[in-house]
Amino acid sequence: MSQRLVVKFGGTSVGSATAIGQAADIVCALQSEGHRVAVVTSAMSGVTDALLAGAVMAVSGRSDALAGVSDTLRTKHETAAEELRLADDERAAVLEPIHARLAEFQLLCDALAVLGEASPRAMDAIGALGERMSIHLLAAALRARGAEAVPIEASSIVRTDSTFQSAVPVMDVTARQAESVLMPLLARGIVPVITGFIGATSDGVITTLGRGGSDYSGAIIGAALHADEVWIYTDVDGVMTADPRVVQGVRTLDMLSYREMSELAYFGAKVLHPKTVLPALERGIPIRIRNTFNASHPGTLVLGKVGDGDRLLKGVTAIRAQSLVTIEGRGMLGVPGIAARAFGAVARTGTSVSMISQASSEQSICFLVSADAASTVVDALKHDFRHELERHDIESIWSLDHVVIITVVGGAIQETPGIAGRVFGAVGDAGINVIAIAMGSSECSISLVVAAADADRSVRCLHDLIDI
Ligand code: ASP
Ligand code: MG
Repeated sequence: MSQRLVVKFGGTSVGSATAIGQAADIVCALQSEGHRVAVVTSAMSGVTDALLAGAVMAVSGRSDALAGVSDTLRTKHETAAEELRLADDERAAVLEPIHARLAEFQLLCDALAVLGEASPRAMDAIGALGERMSIHLLAAALRARGAEAVPIEASSIVRTDSTFQSAVPVMDVTARQAESVLMPLLARGIVPVITGFIGATSDGVITTLGRGGSDYSGAIIGAALHADEVWIYTDVDGVMTADPRVVQGVRTLDMLSYREMSELAYFGAKVLHPKTVLPALERGIPIRIRNTFNASHPGTLVLGKVGDGDRLLKGVTAIRAQSLVTIEGRGMLGVPGIAARAFGAVARTGTSVSMISQASSEQSICFLVSADAASTVVDALKHDFRHELERHDIESIWSLDHVVIITVVGGAIQETPGIAGRVFGAVGDAGINVIAIAMGSSECSISLVVAAADADRSVRCLHDLIDI
């Protein structure tokens, strides 16, 4: 059956001429099976990092280092164009826009060097250049294989607000633009090769969706096009039950629900940008995660409901480098508004909270933030609660550093009695001290905070539960 597919390739999948060739082979095979394919691509691996590092160098006036970055970027793209063995006119068609983007990089960096600072808007203009180069390489590789393919900048499709570096898509405008720009191409069997990661405001100013945001682009475009499926090609076989560097015997999951996927992504499984499932979930579009370098592997399918025969637990993840911030005092008992003020103070520092737990005695509130934000957060809280501290309604505010959040994910957690018992039993039997816990009533996960030194052991012993 012919399907409309959005196929997204990550940075390593377009990281060299060989990889680009493999990605192009995958798309051509799908086309020849009769599918209509829209491609979304990341920048070549390492390019976004290099561009943003270059911007920082420009700001601090390190022009030698910046010249080195420019050279590396130029060589990387020229080498790929060379190794794709394109016809002369095709190679010229690819290198011309790439050289234009590199010149733009230089101009933008010169401007930053003069200003001595980089706004989020300027960082997006620079960060977006990687995808604006890679589309030309991938489109040319497709054409070299006989497909009709055109590079397309997502600024003409994905409309966003103006939250630079973490822009939010405006879905109705995006759907209209996708319809008018992409549908006519798909109808004629032409493959649009679209920049991931980027969008534009209503004034046409380039934004980015946040680091790793090309996955999100794939899902946004999939939703806008009413795609039958969104396929995310990466360099692993799919979503794994745990980090293979920590646990032996991890497996690739065949299937996951959207909710399980977002918990796993949020809690540190790096395979998908955490926001990716949102547009797919709204439209009920299945996401398939597959390996560009192992094309025959079926990968992991993410969809609304997974079958009953499914295993209870899906994965164990760890978010490292966290600090546990505690606000403690008997005077907090029954006083409304303490939590609101506390989280307001945290929000004003621009820090996001990764987990919250409050004992029902109301004598303490604990939450987790990334370790590098901990002292700023504690200072902000001490300032906002200075009167309560003086009156000893709040006794102390402090952070416990070197802790890790371990999360066990599984859709059945909330409805299956005894799972929490088994989780705590497993860590207890291993002699691991649990510092704090959180399990939301609607969530399909249980999170425990342990000392960093116990993290790997916790992941391993909880991973043993996955087979039950
Ligand atoms: N190139 C962007 C990044 O490295 C987006 C992506 O690859 O998903 O963050
Ligand atoms: Mg990625």
